[in-house]
Amino acid sequence: MGAEARVGILGGGQLGRMLAQAALPLGVDCVVYDDAHDSCAAAYAPVVQGSLADREALERFAVGLDVITFEFENVPAEAVQFLRDTGHLVHPGPLALTTAQDRWNEKRFFRDHGIRTTPFAKVDDEAGLQEAIAQLGLPAVLKARRLGYDGKGQLYLAHPEQAEVAWPALGGVPCILEKVVTFDREVSLLSVRGRSGEVRHYPLVENRHAGGVLRWSQAPALGLPDGMQQRAEAAAERVLEALDYVGVLAIEWFQVGDDLLANEMAPRVHNSGHFSIEGAATSQFENHIRAVLGWPLGETEVSPCMMVNLLGQIPDRGQILSVPGARLHDYAKAPRQGRKLGHVTITGPDMPTVAERARRVRALVEGTES
Ligand code: AMP
Repeated sequence: MGAEARVGILGGGQLGRMLAQAALPLGVDCVVYDDAHDSCAAAYAPVVQGSLADREALERFAVGLDVITFEFENVPAEAVQFLRDTGHLVHPGPLALTTAQDRWNEKRFFRDHGIRTTPFAKVDDEAGLQEAIAQLGLPAVLKARRLGYDGKGQLYLAHPEQAEVAWPALGGVPCILEKVVTFDREVSLLSVRGRSGEVRHYPLVENRHAGGVLRWSQAPALGLPDGMQQRAEAAAERVLEALDYVGVLAIEWFQVGDDLLANEMAPRVHNSGHFSIEGAATSQFENHIRAVLGWPLGETEVSPCMMVNLLGQIPDRGQILSVPGARLHDYAKAPRQGRKLGHVTITGPDMPTVAERARRVRALVEGTES
């Protein structure tokens, strides 16, 4: 029996795994392209092994696929352009990648579309870093323009004399300097745009990071100032339209009083949207699959929910599952310090109950984290 549709996914990590998992009940088969044959998405989708620079392997992978998408934002835009040029449908497109892959492009893009960010400056050498410090003041964060994620490729600067060490410490690569924001909290907006231009947004999610890595999310974020959801949605719609975007897009924000400052965007399904598997009418993964196939999008209503990341080690499964409303997602990845190995979603009748249950899960997680 043939599948109704076939979707190719560049990248076979946990996001690819959960995309392929969500596609199955829709009658959609996924095929993953990854440089490892045993990436964790392999449990749900056959893997074509190859490098993103290998055009012959990419062409072999693309045969018979209705659409191709990706699960990580560092896919070279040239690979996506090549697939498009050889007649394949790829969503999101290369412009989303080139914008999101480079922090300087990304911040300028936000600014050019009327979206506020923290003050920032381009840094190309050590003298440029001194100039940027003089311009923005300290404390500030020096971030590599490319290939940074989860707080990697970043340094916090509190004193001007740190500049001398910071520049070589990041490898002397092009950077931006950002003023440190004293935020009340971090929130993210997950939006999805279909091929027809139809857009849906999930309610803003509150996110707690430590060491640059997401620890937990709460959906919906509670106590939002009036109009904040609408302002975030309006900003996301400008981004989606400017990029002619198809699929799920996440924008991460700093909330400062009644204001929102954009931190960054991810042109893909996002860790802060994992709650949606159990906590929303349609998960971000299903909506991404629907969007790239040109199918109608699903409802994005949310019920009280929290998501806790499992980093480095998975605590005792029996203890996690003994917490009412807890659902375990084990990505079947080899344990390694700080690695995202899974997550737990906690649901319940109301947020105080969910928060109490999530505290129990977090205590288990914090007891084992490595
Ligand atoms: P990023 O990789 O840019 O998302 O940064 C990872 C995390 O570091 C963010 O989620 C924040 O918690 C923190 N962070 C990044 N940039 C800033 C900033 N300009 N001011 C304050 N905190 C920041």
